[in-house]
Amino acid sequence: MSDDVKFSLSETDIPKSWYNIMADLPSPPPPVLHPGTKQPIGPGDLAPLFPMAVIQQEVSVEREVEIPEPVRDVYRQWRPSPLYRARRLEQALATPARIYYKYEGLSPAGSHKPNTAIAQAYYNKQEGVKRITTETGAGQWGSALAIAGAFFGLEIEVFMVKVSFNQKPYRRAFMETFGAKCVASPSELTEAGRAVLKAHPDSTGSLGIAISEAVEMAAQRDDTKYALGSVLNHVLLHQTVIGLEAQRQFELANDYPDMVIGCTGGGSNFAGIAFPFIGEKLRRGGNIEVIAVEPAACPSLTKGTYAYDFGDTGHLTPLVKMHTLGSTFVPPGFHAGGLRYHGMAPLVSHLAALGEIKPRAYQQVECFAAGVEFARAEGILPAPEANHAIKAVIDEAVKCKKAGTGKAILFNLCGHGHFDMQAYSDYMAGKLVDQQYDESELAMALAGLPSVA
Ligand SMILES: *Cc1c(COP(=O)(O)O)cnc(C)c1O
Repeated sequence: MSDDVKFSLSETDIPKSWYNIMADLPSPPPPVLHPGTKQPIGPGDLAPLFPMAVIQQEVSVEREVEIPEPVRDVYRQWRPSPLYRARRLEQALATPARIYYKYEGLSPAGSHKPNTAIAQAYYNKQEGVKRITTETGAGQWGSALAIAGAFFGLEIEVFMVKVSFNQKPYRRAFMETFGAKCVASPSELTEAGRAVLKAHPDSTGSLGIAISEAVEMAAQRDDTKYALGSVLNHVLLHQTVIGLEAQRQFELANDYPDMVIGCTGGGSNFAGIAFPFIGEKLRRGGNIEVIAVEPAACPSLTKGTYAYDFGDTGHLTPLVKMHTLGSTFVPPGFHAGGLRYHGMAPLVSHLAALGEIKPRAYQQVECFAAGVEFARAEGILPAPEANHAIKAVIDEAVKCKKAGTGKAILFNLCGHGHFDMQAYSDYMAGKLVDQQYDESELAMALAGLPSVA
């Protein structure tokens, strides 16, 4: 085992292809259905929204999907990202566990999101698209796509969930710096937005509503497409550069993880770090444990139903089978905005159903306590979303101490929290409280799931 703290690869080690777990699944996930006919959709159904290259990746079963050279060229700015051994955290916890983290906060947007934003912008540009619409919750995805738009000369229009738009003016300024347009959602610009405002004039918005607005806007114009920052197969595919690099770095460390941990909103950073390891297990066996950590206030994997549902509140998207809280569910306003989505990626849901992923949920105050403990030991201030993974890591490291066993634990530090200082201020002032979702609202949202014969 290596004594190093940092395991760095060189630019030439950036993976040449992404890893597609579809090739190694024991059974394929259920098909995506047309919302009208309830029949499996074909590539043509998605053509108004996505470029063909992206649609092909969405349905691909090839194990390796080539990363275009211009995309790798942009990746070079921050990839390969470092793998760190959290030696001071291990000491602080007095644990025999070996804790490693892959740090995605060194990207220009400060999170893992550019791994797919760059790729999606590239494919859109290749196919002559002029404008991309999207949604953003906490602002990380909008920021990443804004940067990608500036790199590839594309107009970016971002529907930002209203509560975040008001709470995080710097996020908007960030996106506008790169030339993106940022609109508070629900807005008056779309039918979906106007319908919500008519029913709920004070609506603070949700990702599901913002997706409806962005999709509606993209479908209106031929030169405009839509981009999603999580959930879909192609997004998870692009994020696998994280886990593929980590596998190489574990060779440098002369170690191998017993456990892989990530936080899950829509599932993309988690899939990014975990899928290459799960794939290796599916191909060669082994007993690596994979833990998905979600917020207790928006618990799609631990409390949701595995069923066909819409991806958006306005019911414009196809139906996908996923762990869901119901497309009309609006989670309470906790601080990890990136984890406030009603559904979970179909591939992550499928692997959870197969028993390959163990889900777990935590409340936000205990997650911030873990994040602060991590920051004080390692000097990096994590995004509130990442604090969920860190809470699980610390719990597991403490279990190792009690049992006297030294496991190797890998987690994805998916971003820094420099835009989330209000949340940390609230935590420090003792003002942060755990949020409970409304049980009757969840029951109602689940009762409204579309029926699929
Ligand atoms: C967007 C985001 C998430 C949640 O999205 P996933 O697709 O589940 O990864 C988590 N952490 C950070 C830092 C994010 O920006």
